[in-house]
Amino acid sequence: MVRRAGITGATAILAGTLLVAGCAGTPALLTPSRHRPALATAPGCATGELAVAFDFEGAAAARCVIAGPRSVSLLIGPEHAPPINPSPWYAFRYRAAAGAPVTLTLRYLHSTHRYSPKLTIGEAVVELPAATSDGGRTARVELPSGEGVVSAQPIVAGEHYAAFARRLERDFAARRVTLGRSLDGRPIEALRLGASEAPRLIVLLGRQHPPEVTGHYAMEPFVEELAARLKADPALARSYQVLAVPLINPDGVALGHWRANRGGVDLNRDWGPFTQPETRAIRDHLAALPTRVRIVAMIDFHSTSRNLFYVQGEEASAAQVRFVADWLAGDENAYPGYPFSIVPSNANPGSGTSKTWFHATYGVPAITYEVGDNTKRPHAAAAAIGLAGRLLPALGRLGAAHPRGLATQVVLDVETR
Ligand SMILES: [Zn+2]
Repeated sequence: MVRRAGITGATAILAGTLLVAGCAGTPALLTPSRHRPALATAPGCATGELAVAFDFEGAAAARCVIAGPRSVSLLIGPEHAPPINPSPWYAFRYRAAAGAPVTLTLRYLHSTHRYSPKLTIGEAVVELPAATSDGGRTARVELPSGEGVVSAQPIVAGEHYAAFARRLERDFAARRVTLGRSLDGRPIEALRLGASEAPRLIVLLGRQHPPEVTGHYAMEPFVEELAARLKADPALARSYQVLAVPLINPDGVALGHWRANRGGVDLNRDWGPFTQPETRAIRDHLAALPTRVRIVAMIDFHSTSRNLFYVQGEEASAAQVRFVADWLAGDENAYPGYPFSIVPSNANPGSGTSKTWFHATYGVPAITYEVGDNTKRPHAAAAAIGLAGRLLPALGRLGAAHPRGLATQVVLDVETR
């Protein structure tokens, strides 16, 4: 949830509130955000005609520099040393007095321009053109006068997830479980779907990496489709249950991080070391499940340059290879606007990814579901609904191939450690 106001109203307000301000805290031109208290915010900046602030959930801690009365530069850097796969997140709100467009210059540290700016005004989101230079290390954008939120991707943060959970509770009798707390004390919430005594558990994970909003665009309808199928078919619901953790890194999302949690750790390199409360909370919850419940698949939603599925490489059993083909192969071009690739990648035991850890620990298909940065939300949703619909039958056939297969044995091994 971010503070929003229409441009027309903001312009009217501006006429009476223009102030010359400095560069500390919330610029006087902008009234404080309702979300400020929980967040360590970066100073904003303001001129007599333009103000920029970083004081809401999802805002980036960028450095703001005044370049002219209607021109600002943002220095955008990662929260820790150059991360792998730079995902240069930025998000701020601004207000500009009536007049010509204002100029925003994005300057990237340890990255180049990746995300086209999204301007949110009220419920509307508009993608703005950006002119890059200096090998992509700088991008220039014009913003209309008025007021809005500009971000690397649309902001999908705490309140959105709370509403999603309420919807699943209301429509599908989902049970909310707090698995643990982040370093800043935010809950790591899971949604349980299906009967708790159902023996087969599907684990779904999301937002380990804060900027990967398009992954959520797939995960949300994917979860809802599985919920709808379990609700519609009591026999299926007696067989399968789902544990969905849609927001594993709530601190990173709230603080506008590129990659890490509050502890400066890439959570998708912590499955194995388990140094962070977010990954530990999920591991411990799974370890405490009754022995009659066994994990049958894990899907972890992310974003990257294109739509693809990372699946097991050489470590896959023959049955798992058949499962991937059964679930995904042949469908790569079935969804308009959502072509995808299937990419087998070999396990690297030291990698700390969820994919490697779930496969090694539970012997089940563990898949990274990557959605393209620029994939349109309706396309990601339509494909996710189709693929969720195909998942349970494919898992059913995988289970039938190995009624007392590898997964059960590995779970027992873990429990006797
Ligand atoms: Zn990711």
